[in-house]
Amino acid sequence: MKKVHVIGAGLAGCEAANLLANRGYEVDLYEQKPQKYSPAHKSESFAELVCSNSFKASRLESAAGMMKEEMRRLGSICLDVAEQCKVPAGGALAVNRDEFSLGVTKRILANKNIEIVREEFTELDDSVPTIVATGPLTDGKLAEDLSRLTGTESLYFYDAAAPIVLADSLDYSKLFCQSRYDRGGDDYWNAPFDKAGYEEFWNQLVSAEGAELHSFEVDQPVYEGCMPIEKLAKRGIDAARYGPMKPVGLRNPMTGHRPWAAVQLRKEDAEGTMFNLVGFQTNLKFGEQKRVFTMIPGLEHAEFVRYGVMHRNSFLNAPKVLDDTLRIKGTDQIYIAGQLSGVEGYMESAAFGISAARFLSSRLEGREPAMLPPETMLGSLLRYLSSENKDFQPMGANMGILPPIGEIKDKKERYAAYANRGLLALEEFLKKESV
Ligand SMILES: Cc1cc2nc3c(=O)[nH]c(=O)nc-3n(C[C@H](O)[C@H](O)[C@H](O)COP(=O)(O)OP(=O)(O)OC[C@H]3O[C@@H](n4cnc5c(N)ncnc54)[C@H](O)[C@@H]3O)c2cc1C
Repeated sequence: MKKVHVIGAGLAGCEAANLLANRGYEVDLYEQKPQKYSPAHKSESFAELVCSNSFKASRLESAAGMMKEEMRRLGSICLDVAEQCKVPAGGALAVNRDEFSLGVTKRILANKNIEIVREEFTELDDSVPTIVATGPLTDGKLAEDLSRLTGTESLYFYDAAAPIVLADSLDYSKLFCQSRYDRGGDDYWNAPFDKAGYEEFWNQLVSAEGAELHSFEVDQPVYEGCMPIEKLAKRGIDAARYGPMKPVGLRNPMTGHRPWAAVQLRKEDAEGTMFNLVGFQTNLKFGEQKRVFTMIPGLEHAEFVRYGVMHRNSFLNAPKVLDDTLRIKGTDQIYIAGQLSGVEGYMESAAFGISAARFLSSRLEGREPAMLPPETMLGSLLRYLSSENKDFQPMGANMGILPPIGEIKDKKERYAAYANRGLLALEEFLKKESV
């Protein structure tokens, strides 16, 4: 039986170990707990949920629900256990945290093809097929080794991300498309403020409520260029206007003048289905981001596919250092799974444990891995991670990364159409795979 290593018994590692063991591989699953705990992990059990107990929306016509249905069909152990210990949470799938992680632990321990190695893994060896799933708090010698393999500038330890909004939720009658000094083509849309609008926005920005930081994040040094927009704004009413909201080099065609201030929106993907609020990395609570940032002209009805965050998060610059099968470029058999690979969220991390294991096992069976169709949420997330992106930030499931489906005005109907299209594509894919 072929031996494989899975490093980290979190959500991604458990999924990967389970899939590989069920396909007949002898899995050594390395877990550093209880010898060593990250600042957020507290229990000896596997698949520990370090914060919320929610796996987000269940309904199929939502991005999280669609992804969960795909995971179910791909044999997810986390989802199976989650269904068994779910607690009432309206439209979301939420679990009893301890029961969930004990349930996954029991299933992993009962699998006779999985050997648990309770030690910190420190050095990668390309002669052994390996999946690294050590999560967003990866550190120490293993982080150094990952930097050695991928280049120091490709492993990030801090996430300073700006919100991303869906392109088709913006009011373009209030925006204008222009790059500063007309350099850079049509990559940017601008949301212009007049003086009164800017002052009102500034007032709300500086008084909005921030998210709570974990103790290990409080004194994290932040580069000047990554400063939260609300913190910068507190330096004075004009600070943001001289920073990311500067109007220089812009002329609003609707007035013929330079705006008082402007927020620039930059395409987040090649298709232009999502926009990033340039320079708006923030630590505000998600509800506050929605309240304050929808004051920006043109964003009144903006749909946020990702809110801004500032937190400790180790992740790789996936488009640069991973190939489209989550394997580190330049290695033969070292794969990355979970949050470390550049996705964000419990279920996304688990799903990327499944994906990495599927890619690895295909290669071990002598086949080039087949790519999940782009119509599936997982296929689209994988594509996102391997598409060129010079400002790469981790991404979670959202409808904005799927190939557009045409004009369906009603959002619920549109999302249902996305989900049905994705599941049909997945069914076809799995049918072909099984012959
Ligand atoms: C403080 C914090 C709060 C979060 N809150 C949420 C939330 O509310 N909702 C949400 O969806 N996501 C949240 N996330 C993101 C969440 O961590 C991930 O979505 C998910 O847990 C990542 O899964 P993973 O399997 O990639 O890593 P993890 O679940 O972190 O698992 C990694 C495992 O690897 C082990 N390990 C690490 N290094 C080594 C080593 N060198 N050798 C052996 N074992 C090792 C760890 O002990 C751990 O068991 C949060 C993250 C953090 C840091």
